[in-house]
Order: sequence, then structure tokens, then C-alpha cells
Amino acid sequence: MALEKFRLDGKVALITGGNRGIGLAIAAAFLEAGAKCLLTSRSRTPALDALLADNPKAASWFQADVTADDAPEAMVAAALERFGRLDVLVNNAGIADNGDFHDFDDARLKAIMDTNLMAPFRIARAAVRPMLAQGGGAIVNIGSISGHVANKPQLQVAYNASKAAVHQMSTVMAFEYAGRGIRVNALAPGYVVSDMTAGGIANADWNRIWTENTPMGRFAQPEEMATCALFLASDAASYVTGAVLVADGGYTTH
Ligand code: NDP
Repeated sequence: MALEKFRLDGKVALITGGNRGIGLAIAAAFLEAGAKCLLTSRSRTPALDALLADNPKAASWFQADVTADDAPEAMVAAALERFGRLDVLVNNAGIADNGDFHDFDDARLKAIMDTNLMAPFRIARAAVRPMLAQGGGAIVNIGSISGHVANKPQLQVAYNASKAAVHQMSTVMAFEYAGRGIRVNALAPGYVVSDMTAGGIANADWNRIWTENTPMGRFAQPEEMATCALFLASDAASYVTGAVLVADGGYTTH
């Protein structure tokens, strides 16, 4: 009985940034759990192509830049058109940028905020409407430990501010929709092996500092975030809303 609650049979999920990294791993996990998935990204990757080929009926792709004005409505419309409903939204697409605060210009600040905060806000807003009409849904926003702490050694105030805002957006949305069947949670990963962290992992100094500051002494694989997202998206988390699930190998314990 308990394990059944982790399944997503009959449910439809929209996952942004589903072509690589954490988003692709979430898509694979959701498909394994029985969901139909609409994956969005700007570009395709061989891994995305393979996943689509392996799941010709259950997986579909929609090209969208999450910062485009019409992207939120277009991707929600595509999910409804292709699969008939929308039960789960995973706001995963994101970018990182680092550098001194006093040199971080408006264009870089805008890019971070447009992608990491405005887009999840606007996509969630578009997704809530069909969820309300259906009587419920689940939203998982990918935040970060950077929403809780200052990273070291890299300086990245804008990214951290965007992720803190995503956590608070999730909490307050959860409050607003708790009585109407929509659960909203955030997932706050620590360091995960992906394109986003490849440069830092390849940098001997950064790698050592990141590892030393992670009590488990290693980085996460994307699949370890996918199982957390599956929990939050599924009925296994039926009483969980407004949570920020930290999955960081202990990074924020000290
Ligand atoms: P990657 O760099 O591997 O992938 C980023 C994803 O976001 C890609 O799918 C990319 O699609 C998509 N994306 C970025 N900008 C846009 C855009 N404007 N429009 C559409 N899609 C876009 O990152 P991760 O998998 O590591 O990160 C996924 C999420 O997890 C992000 O929100 C990140 O901040 C968060 N996170 C990551 C951590 C880590 O250690 N890796 C730690 C904590 C949080 P495309 O290829 O088409 O650009």
C-alpha cells in the first residue's frame, strides 16, 4: 500500500529543463512511476532523444525558453493538448552565474531573476488554473541550499537571492492553495553532478572546498534529486505542503 502512493499512474507532469541534468533524471523517474510527461527546454540532447524514443506514448517534448513572454501559457496548453490534464509541475530550469556583487551588472542580474524566479512564478501561475479546475495538483519548485546559505568559494548573491525567493514563493503558494487541493513544495539540492557544476567540480580548489563542506564527502547524482521530487509530486507526500526539502549530504548542518 505505502509504495503504491509513490506511483504517478494516470498523472500528467510538466517538467521544465527536462533535457539534461536534474530535470532529465526527474523525467525518467516520473515515467518509471507511470506518469505521462511533457518535457520542455530550449535545446535537445542525445539523452533526451533516447528518453523520448524509449517512451513514445508517455513522453513528449515542447521547445520553449522559459523567459519568453508566451512560454508559460504555451507549455501548459501543450500539456493539456497532448495529455488531457495537468497534475504535476516541476519548475526545474535554472541558470547560475557568479562574480563579485559590486561588479554584477543589470543584464546578469536580470538573466538570473528572469530564469530562476520570474519564470517559475509565471509557469506556476499558468499551471494552477487547470489544476484548480481539476480539483488539485502538485508543484515542485527546484530551489537550492543557496537559498539558505552563502556558497563558498564562489560568489553568487543573485543566484542565492533567486533561490531564496523560490523557497518563499513555494511556502506562500502552499498556504494560498492548501484548501483547494494543490500542494506546493520546494526541493533544495546541495551540489549535484551536472553541467551546471561541471566547471566547479573540475576546478581542484572548488572541488576540495565543496567536498570538505559536504559532511557526506561527495556530490549527489541527479537521480538522488529525482527520488526526492517524486516523493513531493506523489500521493506519498499527501500531507506535505509548504516544505523545503533539503537534500544536501549534510551541507547545511554546519
Ligand atoms: P543544468 O545546467 O544541467 O541544466 C539546466 C537546465 O535548465 C537545462 O535543461 C536547460 O535547458 C534549462 N534552462 C536554463 N535556462 C533556460 C531557459 N531560459 N529556457 C528553458 N530552459 C532553460 O542544471 P542542473 O540540472 O544542475 O539544475 C537544474 C536545477 O537545479 C536548476 O534550477 C538549478 O539551479 C538547481 N540546482 C542545481 C544544483 C546543482 O548542484 N547542479 C544545486 C542546487 C540547485 P537548455 O539546455 O535548453 O538550456
